[in-house]
Amino acid sequence: MQRDRAGRALASFLENVLEILRRGVKLGGFPEPLYKQLSRPERIVIVKIPVRMDDGRLEVFEGYRVQHNSALGPYKGGIRFHPEVTLEDDVALATLMTLKNSLAGLPYGGGKGAVRVNPRELSVRELEELSRGYVRALAPVLGEQVDIPAPDVGTDPQVMAWMVDEYSKVLGRNVPAAFTAKPPVLWGNPVREYATGFGCAVISREAAEKYLGGFRGCSLAIQGFGNTGQWHAYWAAKLGAKVVAVSDTSGAVYDPEGIDVERAIEVKRKTGKVTNYPEGEKLRDPQAPLYVDADIVAPDAIENQITVENVDKVKAKIIVEGANGPTTPEAEKKLYERGVVVIPDILANAGGVVMSYLEWVENLQWYSWGEEETRARLERIMMNNFQRVYERYEELRSRRSDVTFRDAALVISLQRLYEAMKVRGWL
Ligand code: GLU
Repeated sequence: MQRDRAGRALASFLENVLEILRRGVKLGGFPEPLYKQLSRPERIVIVKIPVRMDDGRLEVFEGYRVQHNSALGPYKGGIRFHPEVTLEDDVALATLMTLKNSLAGLPYGGGKGAVRVNPRELSVRELEELSRGYVRALAPVLGEQVDIPAPDVGTDPQVMAWMVDEYSKVLGRNVPAAFTAKPPVLWGNPVREYATGFGCAVISREAAEKYLGGFRGCSLAIQGFGNTGQWHAYWAAKLGAKVVAVSDTSGAVYDPEGIDVERAIEVKRKTGKVTNYPEGEKLRDPQAPLYVDADIVAPDAIENQITVENVDKVKAKIIVEGANGPTTPEAEKKLYERGVVVIPDILANAGGVVMSYLEWVENLQWYSWGEEETRARLERIMMNNFQRVYERYEELRSRRSDVTFRDAALVISLQRLYEAMKVRGWL
């Protein structure tokens, strides 16, 4: 259990997600059974994954796949390899996928997988064994019309390549649509690699246009320099913003004059630490970008980063949630009291799964649209999603002053889930 400095118990990630869900059900005027349906996953599968380590030892890992809800279609969501992830976190993440996929209008339910492991401590061979073992153990409950995984924190297209290869071997036929974000040579789409960050940049631009009078020259600080953070920074710079801070576990780089993002990405890829970037001020705290002077702050790492403990230090006017669940409900309330707008994860970081959907459609048709066309489609979908939530937010806020952007996103998402469950006879 996480505690604050005074020793009080902090709500867990799952408790926070359930609170958000409860609020959405109430605000949208949906019947209580909708909450009952969505507050529990349909199925949780726990598997053991034995891996022969390089030193000859047998290690047995525990793997999860949470299949949260399938009212709108097959389960869809990533697989996280992280040393601190728990089954409870996986349930929270799967719940967010159901809400995200519904909001984006995709024909998917929500799911998420996890293995509690630090992938950086594994050799390439051990990582491959673990990835293949995960799929062998879960193969009976996966599939292109059943449950379609993708990467999440700690996994990438190489992991997807091993996984789709293993799954195709188990089934004895080529099944590319069963996994998304594969390398382009294995039926992946080249946009998927940067889709989450690209989507975050498009959403940052849309939010800046509505609330800051434009995106050009806006300052943006990014916490977390993994796949989402790097590509968010890259595309935001391309779209005209000034990236003033980035960070990874090694610390932060701050430069009010603007960071050369391409160079920072190169440094990160070559040396593993963004703090080896030669210019700017180096700050030891990886959370530093959350507190610097910037118009927009993007927590692009993991959950529970902006909490009641540190929310008073956040100076930005807009928060764009690249990570899943980075702002706790209590902290969000304080931000809104100060006039800060929080663009929620289920809207802001949906670019990844929207692109996964486009890749899946390509695979099912054995056809490929190519990079430019897919990126244009992705951008259109993200802009349209933003506009729908923005309009609902403004409409709800004219009636109730305490409504948030997240509430508006939730009400839209829940409406679609409610209708699907209703006609299926689940409610
Ligand atoms: N892991 C990503 C997310 O949290 C993408 C999931 C997907 O593409 O299925 O949205």
